[in-house]
Parts: sequence; structure tokens; C-alpha cells
Amino acid sequence: MTIIGFLGLGRMGAPMAANLLKAGHTLFVHDVSEDAVAELVRLGAEAAGSASALGTQCEVVFASLPTPAIVREAALGPDSIFVRGKPKVFCDLSTSGPQLAQELSAALTPQGVACFDAPVSGGIKGAVEGTISIMVGGPEAEYEAILRPLLEAIGKPTHMGEAPGAGQTMKLVNNLLGAVAIGVTAEGMAFGIKQGLDPAKMIDVLNQSTGINSATRDKWPRSVLPRTFDFGFAAALSLKDTRLLMDEAAAADVPLPLGQIVQDYLERTLEREGPEADFTAIAKVVEEAAGLDPER
Ligand code: NAD
Repeated sequence: MTIIGFLGLGRMGAPMAANLLKAGHTLFVHDVSEDAVAELVRLGAEAAGSASALGTQCEVVFASLPTPAIVREAALGPDSIFVRGKPKVFCDLSTSGPQLAQELSAALTPQGVACFDAPVSGGIKGAVEGTISIMVGGPEAEYEAILRPLLEAIGKPTHMGEAPGAGQTMKLVNNLLGAVAIGVTAEGMAFGIKQGLDPAKMIDVLNQSTGINSATRDKWPRSVLPRTFDFGFAAALSLKDTRLLMDEAAAADVPLPLGQIVQDYLERTLEREGPEADFTAIAKVVEEAAGLDPER
């Protein structure tokens, strides 16, 4: 069994770390939130105390952190995972974009660290159930020998290529489709509701028709129809992902007008609902523009 470090025990990190524990691995954990650490310690993990302490104790370190800047600090900063110890493998499960994956690989590979980007998709439910899709970029030999068996305890990994950032690029593509599905579902629903259709019946019909998508299947039944807007993915993080995508696409000379619309919807969602808004609250922005009362 491998000695694993896990940095970032949030909505996604905590259940992924718990699944590594269940698979029988020794787990050292760290998070700036003491409550988050305490919950994993209750399940059998050991508290490392800091990112650098985690690095002294572990062979493989996973990170599930909110922003690329925080991931960079954890991997390359003054109190980072690699300042005191030398884990053999670093695997970033966060959505951090291809550019950071390239930067981390360029800095850590010469130090003998096998560096992987491995963003995930499938939400909190998938992370808890161990069914999330994991999109991996990084060296194939170490992937097969060390990383794949560990990732299989968390979800369903696919190796997208050896180039650093290959997993992140795949994740940005997936996020574009997921976010556009929310935007277009919000638009179609607002139109139907304004014309007098029943929203619950509309979702039932869409889910047995060609309009079915990840928003009609999961997001509307769980968080929009009941008006709870608590699906579990922050609009701020979704906006971060969309901006990463738009920057990468602009650099690659690929126009993404649908991505631009979604970015605009997410910015308006944060303005309307505040920094803690869930990304399903896009529906409220679209309803308001349609002259409906989102607080109905
Ligand atoms: P979250 O905000 O719930 O969790 C982030 C955790 O990191 C928090 O517990 C926070 O205390 C901790 N943290 C912040 N700074 C830290 C630091 N310097 N050192 C240690 N810990 C620190 O976020 P999340 O929803 O779990 O998302 C994590 C990553 O996964 C993001 O990149 C996100 O884009 C991605 N993601 C999220 C979802 C989702 O449905 N929530 C789905 C797929 C991918």
C-alpha cells in the first residue's frame, strides 16, 4: 500500500481522500480548514500540519484546490510540498488549466518528480460514489506503474497523453459542454415557462426527447425545479474554468462564441447572487431577463 498525501479537502477533495483511505492506503492530509482536516482524521487519516510536512511523509501527493494560483503555491511556493521532502509523484486533481500543468511539469520533472494533471468530472455525487471521470496528462510509464491503480480507487481514469496539460485540455472541453448545457436549458425553460408550460413536465419531456443533456438530467431535477440552487459547484469556480478555457482557446486561435455567452451568464450570476452562488443560479439570471420572477 502506498503512503499518500492529500492537499485540499473540500467538496471534491474530502470524498476522494476518503475513497483512498477505504482502499487501504495510508493517508496524510492537509487543508487550511481545521474542520476539513478533523473530518478526514475521524475517518482514519493523519494530519500533516502543512503542505511541506505532507511532502516529507508521502510518496505520492494529490491536490484538489480551488484555483491555479493556490495549486502553484502548494507545488512551488516557499512552504510547498517539495521544499523538504521528495515525493515521487505529484497529481493535481483540480481544474487548473493546461498552462499551469506545463509550468509545474517543467519545474518538477527535472527534480525527479513524475508530474500529472488529472482534473475530474462528475460532481460531489461522483466523488462520493467513486465514479468520477478522471482525465490524465503525464508520463505513461509512471501512470501505469503507480498512478492508475490509485486513481481507480477514486473514479474512472483515462490517460489522454504524455504532454503536460492533456488532461486539463480535455477537462476544459468537457466544462464548455456542461456549462453551455446549463445556459441553453435555462433559456429553453424560461421561454416555455413564460408561454405557460409547467416546468416539471417540461423537464420530464426533455428527458425523453432529443433535448436531454446533463442539465435536464441532473441539475434541474436536483437544484432548479426545487429552487434550492445547491448543486454543489460554485459559480465562481465555473467562471474560473470558463476563463481558463477562453484564454487557452484565444491563444490557439479557436473562436468559442458559446463559451463567451456562458462566461457572461456566470459573471451576471455572481453579480446577482453574490460570491457563494451555485452555478445552477444561472437559471435565475436568464429568468429575470425573460421578465419572470426568479424568487417566485
Ligand atoms: P472547495 O472550495 O469545496 O474545496 C477547496 C478546498 O481547498 C477547501 O477545503 C479549502 O479550505 C482548501 N484550501 C484552499 N486553499 C488551501 C491551501 N493553500 N492549502 C490547503 N488547502 C487549501 O472546492 P471544490 O468544489 O472541492 O473544487 C476543488 C477543485 O475541483 C477545483 O479546481 C474545482 O474547479 C474542481 N472541480 C469541482 C467540482 C465540483 O462539483 N465541486 C467538479 C469538478 C472539478
